[in-house]
Amino acid sequence: MTLAITNAWVIPTLPRTLAQKSGSCMATTLKAKANSEPEPTAGQLLDWYDRHARDLPWRISPKAHKSGTEADPYRVWLSEIMLQQTTVKTVGPYFTKFVALWPTVTDLAAATSQEVMSAWAGLGYYSRARNLHACAKVVAEEFDGAFPRTEDGLLELPGIGPYTAAAVAAIAFDEPAAVMDGNVERVVSRLFAIDTPLPAAKPEIKDRLATLVPEKRPGDFAQATMDLGATLCSPKKPACSLCPWADECLANKLGIAETLPVKPPKKAKPTRYGAAFWLTDSKGHVLLRTRPPKGLLGGMDEVPGSEWTEDSGCADETSAPTRANWQQLPGTVTHVFTHFALELTVYAAKTRARGNTLGDWVPLDSLSERALPTVMRKVVAHADPEAAKQFKQKA
Ligand code: SF4
Repeated sequence: MTLAITNAWVIPTLPRTLAQKSGSCMATTLKAKANSEPEPTAGQLLDWYDRHARDLPWRISPKAHKSGTEADPYRVWLSEIMLQQTTVKTVGPYFTKFVALWPTVTDLAAATSQEVMSAWAGLGYYSRARNLHACAKVVAEEFDGAFPRTEDGLLELPGIGPYTAAAVAAIAFDEPAAVMDGNVERVVSRLFAIDTPLPAAKPEIKDRLATLVPEKRPGDFAQATMDLGATLCSPKKPACSLCPWADECLANKLGIAETLPVKPPKKAKPTRYGAAFWLTDSKGHVLLRTRPPKGLLGGMDEVPGSEWTEDSGCADETSAPTRANWQQLPGTVTHVFTHFALELTVYAAKTRARGNTLGDWVPLDSLSERALPTVMRKVVAHADPEAAKQFKQKA
């Protein structure tokens, strides 16, 4: 629900924290102030963006864009897939690596699955990498390497949901799409003081955002709202005094910016337990295997291990891939996934008779070439800190 932006100012709609603090006198003053101010415009934000746009490796600067430089849809799509659930800082080196290895979507389509998963290793949410590769193949084979230009057309492609379709349509093709990621959600909910808890507030926030999207420069506008959320309109202590919408922003006027958007209480994550088995041979190889293509970490490599269950008693050596003199290493490896926390007990052993049916025997000095997700890199670091140094060197 939107707090007073019209004459329908209703005190009970204030968030409880503010309502408790507010006397009727304060509310009357806020009402008068809120109603007397102009509404936010895209132009205000675009002026700010022209001066403060972040310099990002996948971005065409507003100056270059105004001069006629078009964004490359492949780079826009690639960056948007990588940025889902991941920070700009983390994505930067991966984006650079991908466009160096595969400068076009056709090049990416021609790569092997193993090459793509290996290049993606460490970026997390591995189904994105599988869908990325599947999407590249469809664009290369069915669209002759050219991405569809509309949201509807983009939505037909593997791994492209409503957010990515809107982002690519707006940024790559200047379609007037309402592009709403977490940062933009925060900005718009504050701008209009929307206090309905998420996720129920999303349709209202999107409707409000759609009213702001300009006919000219919708791609720059989308990137400007993202930048505003990422730089000034931060979750805590937003820098409202520097904001181009400071005079229009209702949450700023009401002093409630930090309370918005209203988020549902976080659910406690369960902990699962498992065992990982670090088996090396006398020639400096370690046993790895590839996970099934579907499911969590699907298609990625792993140090062989047990099932992950909520029963801590199962993290023993009964699931070891072969009989050996297994030694439990001190400590555990912990990793937090979206829906659960994981605690792995690591066992190590050496073998002279290495069975080729167990998996791949990989030289310890070439582990960085393999598609090992972050949790497995942690297992490597736990079992062999020296071998794990190559991950940092490669990054
Ligand atoms: S004025 Fe403050 S709260 Fe409002 S959009 Fe700007 S930074 Fe965010």
